[in-house]
Amino acid sequence: MDREFLTDQLKNLEDSIRLLAKGKKSLLLEPLDPEIKTDLEHVKNYLINRETKPSVPESIRARLSEGKPSEQERAPKPQTPSIASHPTESISSQEFDPLSASNLDSLRFRLRTCERCQLCQHRSTVVFGQGNQKAGLVFIGEGPGEEEDRTGLAFVGKAGKLLTQMIHSIGLNRDSVYICNIVKCRPPGNRNPEAEEISSCSPFLYKQLELLKPKLIVTLGNVATKTLIPDALGIMRMRGNMTSFQGIPLIPTFHPSYLLRNQKALADVWNDMRLIRQQLYKQLSSNDDS
Ligand code: URA
Repeated sequence: MDREFLTDQLKNLEDSIRLLAKGKKSLLLEPLDPEIKTDLEHVKNYLINRETKPSVPESIRARLSEGKPSEQERAPKPQTPSIASHPTESISSQEFDPLSASNLDSLRFRLRTCERCQLCQHRSTVVFGQGNQKAGLVFIGEGPGEEEDRTGLAFVGKAGKLLTQMIHSIGLNRDSVYICNIVKCRPPGNRNPEAEEISSCSPFLYKQLELLKPKLIVTLGNVATKTLIPDALGIMRMRGNMTSFQGIPLIPTFHPSYLLRNQKALADVWNDMRLIRQQLYKQLSSNDDS
């Protein structure tokens, strides 16, 4: 009887691992990236340990030698939470820490289940950022909107279309730059991200910038500018002026969403874009010289 009970437990365990793996097909990609392969190993080990330990606990083993399992042990177990609802810290490995990722794909992978702030509760997907990973120029917005949350891509809604025009105005296209946000999950109702959300998320933006090594950063609007330059004045005073973030030249300009509401500001933005082009080519050519 006890043996039967244990066999049942093991069968349940096998089934739940299978279910878990099915539900998590996206984790079972065929990654080419060796670091992501290592990450997957961590996830797999974590799933296996998490599943085997609670399903055949010491208390049951002990009871097997004593007699029948208790009612409590026989009671159906609460459903195992999916990996998506587990912060990566649960994997308790320094190597899985997003901040130790050595490339952008790995960082993106490690952030996909992030639960470091309340924004994870409402998001459909983490909007990591996209574009040319070797781009000299990086645009940083505030946070994903509805369309971005739905597609997983930064700046693809109305504001994104205007950003595309701004990029085209200096002879570049979206594939030749990199576009991301301060917070990677959509603030509900498109509100501004709160200070706590920004401080939870900004280390990942800094890591992203460390890996991208851009020659020039453009912050779009107040939130992005003030996050990177804490003592920045308002965007009206900062826009179109060169400053820097950790030694990387930075030019703030208006956020495209603001421009959609204040078309008069467009003239200023075209001037800012001219400065951005000049500075980008200056940075690229000075780097070629060295
Ligand atoms: N879309 C984004 O991705 N970021 C913003 O800041 C606004 C819209």
